[in-house]
Amino acid sequence: MIKLNDIHKSYEMGSSKLHVLKGIDLDIHQGEFVSIMGSSGSGKSTLLNILGILDNYDQGSYHLGGKLISNMSEKKAAQLRNEMVGFVFQSFNLISFKNAMENVALPLYYKGVNRKKRNLMAMEYLDRLGLKPWAEHMPSEMSGGQKQRVAIARALISKPQIILADEPTGALDTSTSYEVMDILREINESGITVIIVTHEHDIAAMTQKIVRLKDGRIDEVILNGELADFRTRYSKEMQPA
Ligand code: ADP
Ligand code: MG
Repeated sequence: MIKLNDIHKSYEMGSSKLHVLKGIDLDIHQGEFVSIMGSSGSGKSTLLNILGILDNYDQGSYHLGGKLISNMSEKKAAQLRNEMVGFVFQSFNLISFKNAMENVALPLYYKGVNRKKRNLMAMEYLDRLGLKPWAEHMPSEMSGGQKQRVAIARALISKPQIILADEPTGALDTSTSYEVMDILREINESGITVIIVTHEHDIAAMTQKIVRLKDGRIDEVILNGELADFRTRYSKEMQPA
């Protein structure tokens, strides 16, 4: 479903260039649950933004669902993005002056769905995420975990094939993080490809495949069966000195 070949990406920094991705080769199949790990500044968000067609790459090729993603008009890219991808962010990115239902319904507003129908669908997705009683509440009245569930409902309402989540648990406490990861796992079990970015080993260990970025390259890919080993290795590293 996702095929990256020798992807490079640089940012212009005044007169110099910052070479962030230095040749990424990656295959992700439909229905996989993948995490992208790496230290701060290693290019995780850059890679996720390329996967979500939010940003261009400079060199290499990216095929999404068999289509080559490059040199597309912004209109075509937006169309493909809206069809295929749902986004979840660390800071939830909810609209503060809209209630939970209106936030979830927003993607349908942009698709021109009438208010009655989009609110009905939003209620259905809120209900799936256990948030029906919160439909009329504003984001400021909700906990972090509830806000992230609203954001996940909003990502799901367009029926995407892929959910891309950049540090979805980054602003949550440990137990809420696990709740959100359980939700993402259920979404994955329903057949949606889920790709998260995280720098937390415990969170990454809940996915099926961990892709470790280092200095702009894929350092290591760890599969489900090797996770136990991964946990012990990194729990040792994580012990306070
Ligand atoms: P991560 O998500 O792993 O922390 P990012 O992909 O956000 O890393 O960033 C990788 C590097 O690229 C960092 O050094 C960051 O400062 C730089 N960077 C990210 N976005 C931009 C941008 N739009 N312009 C210039 N530099 C950027
Ligand atoms: Mg980032």
